[in-house]
Amino acid sequence: MNNSSRYERQQILRHIGREGQERLSQARVAVVGLGALGTVSAGLLARAGVGHLLVVDRDFLEMHNLQRQVLYDEADVRENLPKAIIAKRKLESINSEIYIRAEVADINSDTVDEVLGGVDLVIDGTDNVETRFLINDYCLKNRIPWIYGGAIGTEGMSYVVLSEGPPCLRCLFGEAPGPGTTQTCDQVGILAPVAHLIASFQATEAIKLLAGKKDMIDRKLWKVDLWSRQFKAISVDHLKESPCGGCRDGDYTYLKRQEGSRAVTLCGRNAVQIYSHRKEQIDFKRLAENLADSAEVSFNDYLLNIRTLPYEITLFQNGRAIVKGTEDTGQARSLYAKYVGHKPRRESEA
Ligand SMILES: [Zn+2]
Repeated sequence: MNNSSRYERQQILRHIGREGQERLSQARVAVVGLGALGTVSAGLLARAGVGHLLVVDRDFLEMHNLQRQVLYDEADVRENLPKAIIAKRKLESINSEIYIRAEVADINSDTVDEVLGGVDLVIDGTDNVETRFLINDYCLKNRIPWIYGGAIGTEGMSYVVLSEGPPCLRCLFGEAPGPGTTQTCDQVGILAPVAHLIASFQATEAIKLLAGKKDMIDRKLWKVDLWSRQFKAISVDHLKESPCGGCRDGDYTYLKRQEGSRAVTLCGRNAVQIYSHRKEQIDFKRLAENLADSAEVSFNDYLLNIRTLPYEITLFQNGRAIVKGTEDTGQARSLYAKYVGHKPRRESEA
């Protein structure tokens, strides 16, 4: 379906024009995290005609996501698929003229090069600080811009990290706080419109960058409380004088970090994520047959679900799993060993 009028209303904008539109069609953009922020920005960028879109998410869809995550619907929840797979399908139905790649993956120091290699810009749709600091270091090292966004409760923040130097996110916020020390949306809730607003901030700055209008980028840290209608633009220019180790010395701490633990509690979700480095894919059919007597098992092309009350294990093809019903990593590891049969390494062996 070729329709030359598709981008007409965007192209007649004097800020973009034909040349800007052409640049958008050549761009390679990654949206990392496909929750409220990521589904909105990925949708906007697909509609805007970004030529290559990479959508990355580690999770599967649940009913409570529908309140704010715009690319999904009830039928998708019933299908029990990873978010990245559904998002790709929806984005392709929105714009079949662009190339979309889906990665069902957790972004960490082991996977980041493989997953994000070759992109020109990264849009943050993640839900945790550690992954943002990792993206920050990856982008600093590879000299690509990225756009931070965060939303919780009725508040949100956004900031553009350019490739040519400080301040980056680490310059702004110092070191990443440890897991469990910050609040999450699972604990305090989220007002959908504030996430959609922040994603619109991100998509707008992305379109400026991609259309070659870098001089129009706003380099303030934006803070919004949408419920009380407070908008603040905070100047961070002075932080150029005291850059972080990454900006100053090329010390990319977060890229070097080993995944300290092979099992990590997903804060506020009563779940644990278990990492695995299998090279070969798991044979879901065989595993389902083996487990048929001991648990309730279902699977599709992308994941296998093991229900054994009060726990639920969602296993991805490369062996990564999310164990729901516990925040105890030891317990999650033994459930994994019992049902998947291959004990993940302990911290000391990692
Ligand atoms: Zn920095």
